[in-house]
Amino acid sequence: MSERKFKRIILKLSGEALAGDQGFGINPQVVEPLAQEIASLSKESGIEIAIVVGGGNIWRGLSGSAKGMDRASADYMGMIATVMNAIALQDALENAGVATRVQTAIEMQEVAEPYIRRRAIRHLEKGRIVIFAAGTGNPYFSTDTTAALRAAEIEADAILMAKKFADGVYDSDPKTNPNAVKFDELTYMDVISKELKVMDATSTTLCKDNHIPIVVFSMDIPGNITRAAKGEAIGTIVK
Ligand code: UDP
Repeated sequence: MSERKFKRIILKLSGEALAGDQGFGINPQVVEPLAQEIASLSKESGIEIAIVVGGGNIWRGLSGSAKGMDRASADYMGMIATVMNAIALQDALENAGVATRVQTAIEMQEVAEPYIRRRAIRHLEKGRIVIFAAGTGNPYFSTDTTAALRAAEIEADAILMAKKFADGVYDSDPKTNPNAVKFDELTYMDVISKELKVMDATSTTLCKDNHIPIVVFSMDIPGNITRAAKGEAIGTIVK
């Protein structure tokens, strides 16, 4: 079954992935099993894992928690929100027995390492999980852009987009259209020209230019992160 072989991956988790059913905040009962799965994957498979975590469960600047606020200020708040998620995830991963480093794109030395590309790669080579926090450090971007940028920088073999409430990419919204068709495979151009909801256009273009495959799959089924990382053909692959 294993048609894709990934040695180093970026796992993109939205902030929502750490929240409970209410979609807000950090729920330890959600984070713990998630961390256990990622830790086991790291220890058992030897796949190098870097995680980009979002912040939408705490604050979303880009699409506006903050109507009327200065856009850049709201975005900086969003980036800081991702750091809180990263620390929660680090704590849970270390409880699950795997060494973890958080690197932030906005310096906060007392809390985490600054993002240093070569150092991140070294951590990965040593089997540590690296969590990239504070997005790209720039307003007007998203954590999807961060995933694409970091994947290019560390030469990841793929970005795994673990989704809540979606098991792949469809031609229309399966929640409103019962006849929506799921794609097994797409090209970057399909995603851009059809405006399919995989990641934003900036991120998709970055992946296209750097030949980074994107696997979109559901994280609502336990074990799916492991399946996607081991190359099982689940969800939708964009390449
Ligand atoms: N953000 C930003 N620049 C970045 C990454 C994130 O300004 O490089 C801000 C942006 O306001 C975004 C928020 O951080 O809305 C949280 O990230 P995102 O919405 O991507 O998180 P997710 O939807 O994955 O939880």
